[in-house]
Parts: sequence; structure tokens; C-alpha cells
Amino acid sequence: MSMKTSVYGFPKMGPNRELKKTMEKYWSGEITGSDLRSEYNTVNRMRLETCKNAGIDIISSGDFSGYDFMLDLSIMFGVIPDRFKNIADPLKLYYAMARGTDDAIACEMTKWFDTNYHYIVPELTGTFSLAKNAQEDAYTFAKSILGNNPNPVFVGPFTYISLSKIIGNETVKADESPQFESLVKSLAKVYNQLLKNLEKAGVTHIQLDEPSLVLEQSEKNISILIDAYTIVTQGLTSLKVFVNTYYESLSHYKKIVNELPVAGIGLDFVVNDENLKSLKAHGFPKGKILIAGIISGRNPWKTEYKNVIPLVKEIISCVGKDSIILTHAAPLFHLPWSLEPEKGHLDNNVIALLSFASERIEELKTIQAIIVNNAPIPTQNLEKIRALFANQSVQKEMAEIDPNNIQRKHPFASRYSKQLKELSLPLFPTTTIGSFPQTAEVRKTRAAYRNGKISIDEYESFINKSIQEVVKLQEEIGIDVLVHGEFERTDMVEFFGEKMDGFAFTKNGWVQSYGSRCVRPPIIYGDVSRPEQMTVNETVYAQSLTDKPMKGMLTGPVTIVNWSFYRNDIQKKDVAFQVALALKKEVIDLEKAGIKIIQIDEPAFREGLPLKKSKQQAYLRWAVESFRLTNNTVKESTQIHTHMCYSEFNEIIEHILNMDSDVISIEASRSKGEILEAFEKFNYNHGIGVGVYDIHSPRIPKKEEMTQIAKRSIHVIDKGLCWINPDCGLKTRGYEETIPALKNMVTVAEELRASN
Ligand code: GLN
Ligand code: ZN
Repeated sequence: MSMKTSVYGFPKMGPNRELKKTMEKYWSGEITGSDLRSEYNTVNRMRLETCKNAGIDIISSGDFSGYDFMLDLSIMFGVIPDRFKNIADPLKLYYAMARGTDDAIACEMTKWFDTNYHYIVPELTGTFSLAKNAQEDAYTFAKSILGNNPNPVFVGPFTYISLSKIIGNETVKADESPQFESLVKSLAKVYNQLLKNLEKAGVTHIQLDEPSLVLEQSEKNISILIDAYTIVTQGLTSLKVFVNTYYESLSHYKKIVNELPVAGIGLDFVVNDENLKSLKAHGFPKGKILIAGIISGRNPWKTEYKNVIPLVKEIISCVGKDSIILTHAAPLFHLPWSLEPEKGHLDNNVIALLSFASERIEELKTIQAIIVNNAPIPTQNLEKIRALFANQSVQKEMAEIDPNNIQRKHPFASRYSKQLKELSLPLFPTTTIGSFPQTAEVRKTRAAYRNGKISIDEYESFINKSIQEVVKLQEEIGIDVLVHGEFERTDMVEFFGEKMDGFAFTKNGWVQSYGSRCVRPPIIYGDVSRPEQMTVNETVYAQSLTDKPMKGMLTGPVTIVNWSFYRNDIQKKDVAFQVALALKKEVIDLEKAGIKIIQIDEPAFREGLPLKKSKQQAYLRWAVESFRLTNNTVKESTQIHTHMCYSEFNEIIEHILNMDSDVISIEASRSKGEILEAFEKFNYNHGIGVGVYDIHSPRIPKKEEMTQIAKRSIHVIDKGLCWINPDCGLKTRGYEETIPALKNMVTVAEELRASN
């Protein structure tokens, strides 16, 4: 068979999150390191066998990980921060870097490209060594299962360094440092050593993943890349090196495909048509292999053969069929393991639209058979199924949106003064972000209701009792704008998704977010609508218990979409607009029911930012519009809040202002410097609550610390616009620390009022 299939990055957790459970048992001391290692092998074996049984020709090794694949490389190259150097046991060292110890704080974790995966950021010390050849062990293990030669797959030196930070007097991102070139090149030497060892061990081909090449790189960086790969491949005789890219189209296509001294290049043909256009315009060098990512590694939708077969044929016409390897674009760990457990759980028609990792690799085989053996193209009729999920009235409302008129009628200044009067709020109003501690009792009762162990009446009376208590508590503490506590919600996206049409929730569709943490993203498969009210009952009940204003609490459209698997038969923007229209109904109902303040959380607003800067403006525009669509028709006196819980928004601050919420609460307690700097440069002139304490730690913040943050904000923001609040919801906290922390916070506000 001439045209081969290749699979890499198969999900690591195991079909039932075996890896997660084992890791956690090891951490709690229930099992030993050798038990852990043998369970690693069991799960890895399942991955390899799944690919082997599907008949995949080229199967990866070395891409399994006990926590994170970037951390694995750091260990392999001896990139170990000094604070961990006294830990001799390799497993203990590994998990200490990932999770921290009593004496040493964990390495930083951050988002992996534009996905919901998070990696451990390498802390470069300047030198690299081949401390341990974990790739060779992984190769030998995989070979014993597969029989044929596995394909070691790991991140290449350019991307590894690009995603690292350099620790010195000041910590800098490696790709912004003058040392970037020397770091990439000195790591390239170690890669060369590693590859030579692998060659000796019998490896015939390897794949180095370089997703950083899809970012907008400078010419200079591309020459660094080419020099680095000249070093990486020096002196190799038989080992073929492939460089793979995904998540976006390749920047500098012509130079990279022609000049990178490797045997093959991988391109993502799924994310958009830019790589195909480059391929058609500039061709592909003879003698190199094209690793063609032709089906998605990231979204859960079934591949449509009527679209993918012509794509493959077009690629063949440019490259020739003997120079192509068929694969998925992006590693498969962004998908759940298999659809099998969903049968009987999800609607059959929804299942018919889906394809998880195990199904994805079958698709690859089907495509290979169609192309190579002229096998018949299976009929799919996916349009017919999708049509079942269309909602005419949603489509009508979508068509009626006037894009030039998604804004509130009155300007902020006049709205805000009216609101303050109507709400009789003092200077420096205090509030919280929404959730209160989710005690064991709250979680137990919610689960009991879900499992049918208690009746709806019992459940509702429990929720009402919890609301009563939290309202009373907030009144006692003296908070100005109250919340109902969110006791009925497990997760801020799931809660709304479950109440809207067009969303599905899997039973076992877990995807690794980081380490042992997995999430089950909701699946938006059809037109989104809101058949009934979602939050009005609890909010109105809470308001009935107090004379103070009660904030309604919703999750915003951008966050809901960014944290879901969203349909790809319409634009992402349109999915967000549909969600926004559904939320708008809730906003209107809350307002009608007498709720005067409504908070629409957008913690994932920034997460959807496209990788290429040139595409960010378009995203920001529709993201802002979809937020505004949720509330542009409320009365002048209704106050709209939003919340974002990160501080890296300096570069998007003008778009955040453009969301036009009356008040925003943001995280700042961990990196106050940075965020307040943004306000020095940019005149943010709407209401704002810079978080005065970090809710991520059980530590009770001192009054002085909070006062300091508040004072620094007053320094750069008009004091008439300043709110006092924690930096995020309190649901992961206990009441022991929450009560004193909030009391201190209220005192801080009172003292500020007295002195201003
Ligand atoms: N209202 C939510 C809460 O308080 C906000 C959570 C978040 O920003 N992630 O829990
Ligand atoms: Zn938050």
C-alpha cells in the first residue's frame, strides 16, 4: 500500500480515566511508584493496541505522559529548577515540579496554544544535557506491542524554547529574549545527540512537533529554525526526521518547506484552507514527504467524506501520491477516547454526527481505502441529521440582528449615575463574584437530586435554605450588592448548557485539561435556544429576602462557546450569537422580575483569541458584539456587570471597555503590578472592581494588603468608578476563611469611604 496512515497523540487518560485515578492514588500514598509505572504501561498499551487494531501504519511512541509532555522534555534535558534539585527520587521530582511541595512552589502552568490543554512552563537555566533517554525506553516498549517500528513523536527544540521562560533577575519569555537563538541552537545539539542514540537503537523515523511555526514568526526566527535543524540532523545516516505543525497554517510556508533540512513536513489542512492555498501556489519540494493533516484532531465532528476525498485528491495532484502520509491535523488528545460509552446515553442522531479519537482513526483507514483501493465512499447524509436540529425561530431572530445596532441606547455616564441613585450605592460599593463555598453538603445534596435519591421539592427547599443563609450572611457582613450563591450549579457552563436546547452532555467524554484534571466539554450540536427560564426563580427568591440589590448571575456567550465543542457547520461567531440570544431572553426576564443588576461572566473571553495576530481583531469584534447582544436592550437603570478572572488583558483592554458593561470585576491580586500598569496607559472609564484578594488560596487576606491594592487602583481609576470585591468566585473556599476575609474587605471599603 503506497499511501500510509499515521496517528499520534492518542488520548492518554485511558478509556475510563485510568491514568487520572492512578496518579491521584500515587499522590495520596495509596500505591507505590512501581504500581504507578506498571499502570502507566497498561494504559499506554491500550492506546497502542487501539491504533494497531485499527490498522494504522505508523503509530507514535514517546507521546504518552504521566502528567505533561513538556515537563517530560524538561526532565529529559535536565531543565530542573534549583529549588527541586535536592529531590533524588525521579517520580517525586517529576510530580514536585508539576504540583509543588511544602518547600518549593510548582512550576508555572499555562495554556497550550489556543486549546484547553495546559502545559508546565520550562524554566531555563542556560544549559541542557541528555539527562535521560526516555524516548528510547518508550520506543522499545511500543515496539514490543506493535511489532513494527514505532514513530517517536515529541515537541521539537524551536517550540520547546519558544514556550519556555528564562529565570534571572527578571523572568522573561524565552522567545522575547536576546538569548533565544543561542538557546535554540544549544538545545538543538542535545536533540542531535538524542537522535543519534535513537538511530543506534533502531529508530527509522521520528516526528518532531513544532506548532510554534504556525505563529507569526519573524524572518530571523525562521533562519534560527533552519540552522537549528541543520544541527539536529547532523551526522544522521538512516533516521528520517519529520517536522509536524498544526493548529493553524504554516507561516513562511515557502521557506520552511523548501529549506528546512528534514525528510518531511506536516501541515494542518483542516483548520482553514491557507495551507492548501500555499501548497497550490508554491508547490512542495520533490523528495520530501508531506504529512497531511486531513481530518480534525480537535473537534468531535464526524469527517465528511464528500469533502475530505476531494481535498486529498487535490493534495495528491500537487505532491504525488507516493510522497504523502495521511494523518489527523493536531494531536488526538484534544478528543475523548471513544464514542462507545455514549451509545444509549446520547441521542442517536447526535451520536451520528460525532467522532472521538477511536472513531477518528477508523476514518483515516476509510479514507486510505477509498484513495488507495477505490473502496466505495460511505453514504453519510449528515445534512439530513443536522436539519433535525435546526430551529426556525432562532434562525429568524439571527437574521433580524442589526449588526450596526448592538449597543445600549444611553451612554455609560448617564446610565451609571442613574443606576447609582436608583440602587442607593455608596462610594466603593462592595460585592462578590457570585459563588459561595460549595460545602460537602451542597455537593452531596445536588448529587442526590441528580441520582434521583431525593425529590425535586426536597432539593429546592435545600437550595432555598442555602440561599437564605447566604443572604443573611452577606447582610451581616455588610456587603452592598448581594448574590444568591450559585448552590444549584456544578459548573458555570454545564449549568446553562443543560437548560438550553442544542447542547449535549457526554457520559464519559473526558479530555485532559492538565495533569490529572479532565473536563467534559459540552457539545453544541444544533441551533441554541432557551425553552424556559434558567435562573429567575433562585434570583427572585434571593431578592425577596433582602432590601439590598441582588445580582442576577449568568455565564456569557463567549465563555460558553469557548469552553464547549461547538458545531462547525456554521461560523463560531454565529454559535456565539445564538447563545447570546438565548441569554438575552434570560436577561430580559430577570429585569422584568425586578432584578436591577445582572452579571454576565466572561472568564474565557480571552481564551478564544486566534493564534495569528492578524486574525485577532475579527474575533474580538464578534466576541464583544455577542456580549453586548445579551444586554443591549435593558433599561438605562439596569446595571450590567461582567467578570473576567485573569489579568493578562493589557493588550485587549480597549475591547474590554468596548463590551460596555457598567461594571467589570477582574483578577488582580496575583499580578497587580501588570494590571494597574494597563490602567495607567489606558483610560478605563467604566465601573471596575480590581480584585483585592486572591481566592485561590485559603489564606485570610490582611486588611492592609487589600487596602493597598484598592488604593493603587484609586490612583489610576476614578474613585467614583471603583468597586471592592475578591478576584473570583468563592466556591472552592471554605466558610472558615471566607467570612473573615469578607469582613476585612468590607472594613477596607468603609475606611476608604471615610477618608475619601
Ligand atoms: N460567577 C462565577 C463564580 O463566582 C464566576 C466564576 C469564574 O469566573 N470562573 O463562581
Ligand atoms: Zn473568576
